[in-house]
Amino acid sequence: MSKNILEVNNLSVSFNTSDGQVHAVDNLSFNIKAGEVLGIVGESGSGKSVTASAIMGLLTSGNVNLSGSIKLNDFEIVGAKDSEVRKLRGSDIAMVFQDPLSSLNPYYKIGVQIGEAYETHHPDASKAEVRNKVIEVMKKVGIPEAERRIDSYPHEFSGGMRQRVVIAIALINDPKILIADEPTTALDVTVQAQILDLMRDLQKTSNTSIILITHDLGVVAEMVDRVLVMYAGRAVEVSDIKAIFSAPIHPYTKGLLNAVRSLDSAIREKLATIPGTPPSLLNIPQGCAFNPRCSYKQWAGDKCLVQKPELHEIGNGLTACHLSKTDIERMNKDELPVV
Ligand code: SF4
Repeated sequence: MSKNILEVNNLSVSFNTSDGQVHAVDNLSFNIKAGEVLGIVGESGSGKSVTASAIMGLLTSGNVNLSGSIKLNDFEIVGAKDSEVRKLRGSDIAMVFQDPLSSLNPYYKIGVQIGEAYETHHPDASKAEVRNKVIEVMKKVGIPEAERRIDSYPHEFSGGMRQRVVIAIALINDPKILIADEPTTALDVTVQAQILDLMRDLQKTSNTSIILITHDLGVVAEMVDRVLVMYAGRAVEVSDIKAIFSAPIHPYTKGLLNAVRSLDSAIREKLATIPGTPPSLLNIPQGCAFNPRCSYKQWAGDKCLVQKPELHEIGNGLTACHLSKTDIERMNKDELPVV
């Protein structure tokens, strides 16, 4: 088994706001190995993107409270100087954002924007060297006629091509880890499939580790090796991809899966939903944060209302739930009555 390339331990992030302290990430721990694809899944506000920003070393403003550890190989990102993290950003670890249009500057040619990422880490490169490198990476991400289109502006590209440009910017320095934050949400389904294919190919050929942040379980099923499910800033389940879909070990994961329509669903069948809404991060419920929405809490007794469940092993996965192994098995066989 290869070594962990990234280790996140007991990461907590909160923001001081005029309304109070927003607890965005709470005691989060996970790791990723070289060449592995990890999916981070959860509703809006579950802490996925804040976790990504923390890993990228972007949470430097004065109103952020950050604790715990984020180790990229042996380099500690939490508490490191911005100048040190900047050297890693783009070269060792890179990020693809959700909306390619707002990630690109409409006034600059595509080639200039991709080349800038290379020049930052190769200040001595000649203009010809940078141009050749840009053309090479444009071809790598499947942009046709790269020699001509290097001089185009973002508005001359389609949505899918713009996302390829953003991926090219992220990949031009051969990062060890690529964080893709909802990279296909703004794209239509056909283009979405092309971008996922592209990312999968790149991961195989370059052995890049990918952290894929998404709320789309279809994307997760296509792409990832392992899934981390987050709720209200905490990890509630970590399992490999097959286990998540065949036998989830947390009621929230089961709720997310039930909310996905399958091909054999009857046309008029009502889509299942998780009751209620995610909690305010200013005022997270006591005990298990999912308890106001959980249909199984009566089976775990009063603990759910008073005691935060910690991640522990159940079978081959990790879950943060007070339900017993037997009750989780019954839940998956739909034998555990819900309220
Ligand atoms: Fe539901 Fe209790 Fe498990 Fe939370 S700890 S998910 S409330 S059963």
